[in-house]
Amino acid sequence: METTKKIIIAIDGHSSTGKSTVAKELAEHLNYTYIDTGAMYRSVSLFALEQGFIKDDTINKELLLKNLNKISIDFTKNTETGRVETFLNSKNVEKKIRSLEVSSYVSHIASISEVRKLLVLQQQIMGQQKGIVMDGRDIGTVVFPDADLKLFMTASSEVRATRRYEELISNGEKVSYKEVLQNVEERDYIDSNREDSPLVRAHDAYLIDNSKLSRSQQFKVILNLVEKATKA
Ligand code: C5P
Repeated sequence: METTKKIIIAIDGHSSTGKSTVAKELAEHLNYTYIDTGAMYRSVSLFALEQGFIKDDTINKELLLKNLNKISIDFTKNTETGRVETFLNSKNVEKKIRSLEVSSYVSHIASISEVRKLLVLQQQIMGQQKGIVMDGRDIGTVVFPDADLKLFMTASSEVRATRRYEELISNGEKVSYKEVLQNVEERDYIDSNREDSPLVRAHDAYLIDNSKLSRSQQFKVILNLVEKATKA
C-alpha cells in the first residue's frame, strides 16, 4: 500500500483481544516494524522464574530489581520460520513466554514501576524511527501519547479465553478452559487497577470490539483508519 507518511500506530486493549495478530498483519501490509511490548514484560517474568526470584507464588522484588541490568531483550527474525521472535539474553524464548505459568505472573511483574520505567524507555527508543506498530496496555497513554493512530481493542472475556485456550492447546500445553478464563480476567483486573500506567482507553483511541467481527472485517476497518491517519 502506498502511504504518504510513516506513522506510529499504538494498539492497546484487554488480554487476548488479538492485538498482536492485527499488529503483525498491519506491520507486514505497511512494511512497518512490529513491537510486541507484552513479550518484553513476559521475558522479564520468565527471567525472574528461571533465576528463582519467584518462589511459593512470591516475587522477590528486591532481587529482581538488582538484576534488571542483566536482562537484554531483542526481536530477531527466525530464519527458519521467517517470523520475528523474542530473544532473552540471546536465547529464543518465543514459545516459553506464552506459557500459562508466565501468564500467571506477568501482570504482577508489570505492576512494578521500576520494570515499567526500563521497558518504556526501551520502547520509546525503538519507536524513534516512525513506521512502527506497537501493541500493549499503555502505548497510547504513556509510551507514545502523541501516536498518530490509537486503537483500543476489546471483546467479551469468553471469546478471548476461547482464543487463548486454543492457542495454548495448539502449543502443546495441558490447560483447562476454566483456568485460562480465570487468567484472562485476573490479568485484566490487575492491569486496569494498578497504580502505575493502568490499562485505560486513551481519549483519542478508536474502540474496536471484535467479539463479533471476523479477522478480515476487523482488518478492513483498521486499514481505513490507517489510510486516514497517513493522509492527515
Ligand atoms: O500482550 P500480552 O498479553 O502478551 O501482555 C502480557 C502482560 O504484560 C499483560 O497482561 C500486562 O500485565 C503486561 N503488559 C503491560 N504493558 C504493556 C504490555 C503488556 O503491562 N505495554
